[in-house]
Amino acid sequence: SRRFEGKVAFVSGGARGLGASHSRRFVAEGGKVVIGDLLDEQGQALARELGDAARYVHLDVTDEQSWQAAREAAEAAFGPVSILVNNAGIQKLGTTLDTSLEDFDEVVRVNLNGTFLGTKIIGPSLIRAGGGSIINVSSIAGMFGLPNTVGYVAAKWAVRGLTKASALELAPYHIRVNSIHPGRIVTDLTAGLNSPIRPNQLIKEPGRPDDISNLVAFLASDESRFSTGAEFIVDGGRYV
Ligand code: NAD
Repeated sequence: SRRFEGKVAFVSGGARGLGASHSRRFVAEGGKVVIGDLLDEQGQALARELGDAARYVHLDVTDEQSWQAAREAAEAAFGPVSILVNNAGIQKLGTTLDTSLEDFDEVVRVNLNGTFLGTKIIGPSLIRAGGGSIINVSSIAGMFGLPNTVGYVAAKWAVRGLTKASALELAPYHIRVNSIHPGRIVTDLTAGLNSPIRPNQLIKEPGRPDDISNLVAFLASDESRFSTGAEFIVDGGRYV
């Protein structure tokens, strides 16, 4: 299907992992995509692979000026953005007792401040587009507690809360804002962690990037027109 014909999507952290999967999906279904990331080589290679429908821009999601430059580049290439996926994220392992303030801060800056800045700076582009959809990537760690990754849990819960505030504020502009909460999916972020199938998971298969891209595409498209300020879990039935 061509659900994204005539639409421009922006994916932060789109050079690899889940973000690359979402970027491929937007193009596969007829849309244009702007990929923002720190990983210039991987991002440029992905944009080349996707052809005229894709652009790569260097983006540090923790930096407001970097977002502004990314928005200008996106609009110059394709016009106003109507889909924003705040996907860039990092995780550090560590408990409350042994995590440095620097590590805690860095995880919060990328996952939370990055989502705030993306919404703040790209939001006006969605308004100019006449409305759209913002998808904030939280985690199952933003719905429940998880030991030994304290900054990540705190930041992903905050992303879920930020989503509610944005949904309330942006509804008058016909912008829907939802959060997604993936369980364990095998990507570079999680490759070093323990088994992809968690002990309590009811579906005894590893999660794949496409499982999350299916949800992102649904939330980005008009098929989800009646959902905003909502949270969507895709975790193979790990938390039931
Ligand atoms: P990944 O590490 O493969 O990809 C993350 C991307 O974000 C990378 O390309 C990285 O360069 C980019 N990034 C990091 N810091 C950035 C910054 N300051 N500015 C711009 N880009 C930056 O990870 P992934 O598994 O694809 O995760 C994508 C998102 O999904 C993250 O928000 C992550 O927390 C979330 N998530 C992943 C899983 C999983 O199991 N993989 C589960 C739940 C949630």
